[in-house]
Amino acid sequence: MTDLHMHTNLSDGTDTTQELLAKVESIGLDVFSITDHDDIESNEIALSTIQQRKFDAKFVTGCEISTIYNNFDIHLLFYNFDIKDDCISQLLKKMKTLRTQRNFAMFEHLKSVHNIVFDEDVKSKLLQRKILGKVHFANAILKQDASLIWQQIFDNFLNDMDDTDFRIQASTVFEMLKDAKGVVSLAHPIEIQEDHNLNFEQLFKLIKNLKDLGLVSLEVYHNKHTQRHIMQYSKIADELSLKVSAGSDYHGTNKKVALGQVTADGSVPSSKQITILNCF
Ligand SMILES: [Zn+2]
Ligand SMILES: [Zn+2]
Repeated sequence: MTDLHMHTNLSDGTDTTQELLAKVESIGLDVFSITDHDDIESNEIALSTIQQRKFDAKFVTGCEISTIYNNFDIHLLFYNFDIKDDCISQLLKKMKTLRTQRNFAMFEHLKSVHNIVFDEDVKSKLLQRKILGKVHFANAILKQDASLIWQQIFDNFLNDMDDTDFRIQASTVFEMLKDAKGVVSLAHPIEIQEDHNLNFEQLFKLIKNLKDLGLVSLEVYHNKHTQRHIMQYSKIADELSLKVSAGSDYHGTNKKVALGQVTADGSVPSSKQITILNCF
């Protein structure tokens, strides 16, 4: 079993890296990648743990970068890089700066638009996080007002902020990574398709444009993908000669997704179908 998309509590998951590694072993994954948003500290921890003791599963370095391309939210999964590579550290440094700016704007947005002000100790705890994301803002808001509903916090208070200025262009990411070892896969195409109501041809065209920028693979298998989606995305991967990747997008208790579940119906693709494995 392969799962190339999961998050620890160093980004917006809830498991520590060690807890996640224990789960990877207990469910018997053969190949896995930890893909925190904009950060690779969990990869460093995983690598040193795996070097220190016998570990059956093969680990592939990974990171998920949120980008923008023509107003589309594009999440890029970067795999099999060298964690000491200068290209990736430059990129992560840039991502950190943008995220910090976004978060200060978010505090301001919550205060001025929604009249939500955090106590100083709550605010300083949030700011102490290495990766501070919407999930953490949502948790803090929910703690202040338990009557609110999780999804509504995102829809009403967080996602209504225009964060265009704090996003990185997909083309910039491809450019910054072009000399680095590693491959880029497009995460959860279903989210792009549903958010923008794209038909097959429109999605195909978008992915083709991304391929021209340097995209190598498509996440054909993902916990939200039904067999119908898998068929469509396999066809796109096939026609564009893209590799196929598979990931659950596991976030611990922050999302109801099981580690290793890379299809909506729980079926398991064979390792032959996950052609990105040939790149590792
Ligand atoms: Zn994503
Ligand atoms: Zn993810």
